[in-house]
Amino acid sequence: MAGLDDLYQQLILDHYRRPRHCGVLDHPTIAVDQHNPLCGDELHVTLRIDDDRVTEVAHTGDGCSISQASASMMSDAIVGHTTDEVLAMIEHFRRVMHREVAADEDQLGDAIALEGVAKYPVRIKCALLSWMALKDGLLTHMVNQQEGR
Ligand code: ZN
Repeated sequence: MAGLDDLYQQLILDHYRRPRHCGVLDHPTIAVDQHNPLCGDELHVTLRIDDDRVTEVAHTGDGCSISQASASMMSDAIVGHTTDEVLAMIEHFRRVMHREVAADEDQLGDAIALEGVAKYPVRIKCALLSWMALKDGLLTHMVNQQEGR
């Protein structure tokens, strides 16, 4: 993708070729599927949550480099954080992709490399896919907890 910072482009390719937290958890607290029909990206994300904290995450899927690298970067960024913190990170990333705020590396980790994707409207959905999957999963989990399921 022309116009993305070289260093960031390399980071995206690195996550695409060697995804972190790749796979599927055996007994996940949350399992969620998401796909992006515009590009054909598919993702399956599993999470383990202990005491309201994300202790493990794994993702698998198929699709373009942006979607798969984003899932890897997201997984790296969220492990060890509380569900509230993770929801704030997701919201921050969403706002970065819609060019409402500048990217904050403390919140996003390597996913800061995706900031330039915001310039390419057709690719934004690719970058957001894993984060929106995670948001769906977390919100469903929180509702179920409140209802004592
Ligand atoms: Zn894509």
